[in-house]
Amino acid sequence: MTNTNDSFKKVISHAKEYGYVVQSSEIYDGLGAVYDYLQNGVELKNNIKEYWWKAMVQLHENILGIDSAIFMHPTTWKASGHVDAFNDPLIDNKDSKKRYRADVLIEEHAEKLLQKAHKEINKAAKRFGDDFDEEMFKETNPRVQSYLSKREDILQRMAKHLDANDLNAVKELILELEIACPISGSKNWTDVKQFNLMFGTEIGASAENSMKLYLRPETAQGIFVNFLQVQKSGRMKLPFGIAQIGKAFRNEIVARQFIFRMREFEQMEMQFFIKPGTQHEWYEKWKKRRLAWHLSLGLDKENYRFHKHEKLAHYADAAADIEFNFPFGFKELEGIHSRTDFDLSSHEEHSGKKIQYFDNDENKSYVPYVIETSIGVDRMFLAIFSKALQEESLENGTTRTVLKLPAILAPVKVAVLPLIKKDGLPEIAHQIIDDLKWDMNTVYDEKDAVGRRYRRQDAAGTPFCITVDHQTIEDRTVTLRYRDSMEQKRLSIEELKPILLNEVSMSSWLQRMKNFTD
Ligand code: ATP
Repeated sequence: MTNTNDSFKKVISHAKEYGYVVQSSEIYDGLGAVYDYLQNGVELKNNIKEYWWKAMVQLHENILGIDSAIFMHPTTWKASGHVDAFNDPLIDNKDSKKRYRADVLIEEHAEKLLQKAHKEINKAAKRFGDDFDEEMFKETNPRVQSYLSKREDILQRMAKHLDANDLNAVKELILELEIACPISGSKNWTDVKQFNLMFGTEIGASAENSMKLYLRPETAQGIFVNFLQVQKSGRMKLPFGIAQIGKAFRNEIVARQFIFRMREFEQMEMQFFIKPGTQHEWYEKWKKRRLAWHLSLGLDKENYRFHKHEKLAHYADAAADIEFNFPFGFKELEGIHSRTDFDLSSHEEHSGKKIQYFDNDENKSYVPYVIETSIGVDRMFLAIFSKALQEESLENGTTRTVLKLPAILAPVKVAVLPLIKKDGLPEIAHQIIDDLKWDMNTVYDEKDAVGRRYRRQDAAGTPFCITVDHQTIEDRTVTLRYRDSMEQKRLSIEELKPILLNEVSMSSWLQRMKNFTD
């Protein structure tokens, strides 16, 4: 059995070896928490974005897409609260000289208590078998109760201190819980300080008329400042949404988790504008819909869980994360936030322009409320990629490395392999590619024995291989091999296209969402 650290290292090295993700500017020893997507990575990333865009924008009559600029007027960030409040509490360990987010250290400590409670529950489940009543056990077992209440207490105290911006109390809590630095093992901590995460830059040629700007730390504000424009030009009625995909930048304090926490990353965000008072209903609806989107990709539902926020951001009246079981444990993959009318009202105040919706039914104007769904493309990439990477033991005693990406997201859908490099087989293989390449991404591969080529495609994540052999010349049949089951089928060249189109059809994948929302 490999431990989580080893399996995460494998994910990172596999991503590099197969042309998915590498560190940026590696020849100069890289840049912390900045990454480049290579030939396969860019395809997987684009496919994730397309899958989201289709589900959110094109399948909803009442959601429109935009693409706003990364640079925005600096007052935007004053209005949004980012200049004053987009801080993380940081703490350094004096012995290892490593920097941490104080809240993350405490959350990880609390998570351990939850794991201990689960361990007790699992043990009891095994002991009691079919008669086991988990809820009852949770409520009555003193040990489980003690773990859960300790955890609750820690999280609540942390939230209270952070809300009050009482950084001394945050440090006291770390000391009281005897949290040690994972690197040095010591409890020798500095004081906790606040650190603003926005990157600053300047616009304009000369010093006198230059203006200080920020690289946007989220795409959402580009949507808020365009709310009225889209509502009017799109003639939209509430409820309706505006969505966009784009880069965001944060000067993250701790950046040691590959593409989980980057300084330059991409977000897919949707702001859903609603009538005040209906936020609870829409918040629940969007939680459900977003989880259904994830589940449609076919990963085990045990990999996802909701985490309700104890400490709400300055703009929210309810918030939850969809957490995913990453190689380093359950962590936030997507946020669903009920943002009230905070942003629009604040832009109204700072710009001096009226940003309101006229409700014909009620014959009055008001500032709409907002439900936001916000997911990082890169985190989604890591979630899918890390679960897809598997070492499988085969019946013949060997093992294979296989990247079981959902076919709809796989960078290359089909590899076409001539059994040997002569006798006209490469020509037939190219004809098959020429026919398929209009509808899906294909590769041609003629090097090495066919078994090795299958293994190579398995590891690269290609869901289907087509092998052309001498029988193909006689009867125009080929072998279609499935990556996950390794099943092989003999069929005619003409049958290939409809079968493959069905396997990689966006509509049949997305329709699976219905299984999880009804
Ligand atoms: P975290 O608590 O992990 O820092 P957050 O709560 O600050 O995340 P949000 O501001 O809610 O994150 O951003 C929405 C989404 O953007 C997150 O769910 C995540 O998928 C993604 N995201 C945020 N920060 C980063 C980052 N530094 N690198 C990659 N993705 C990120």
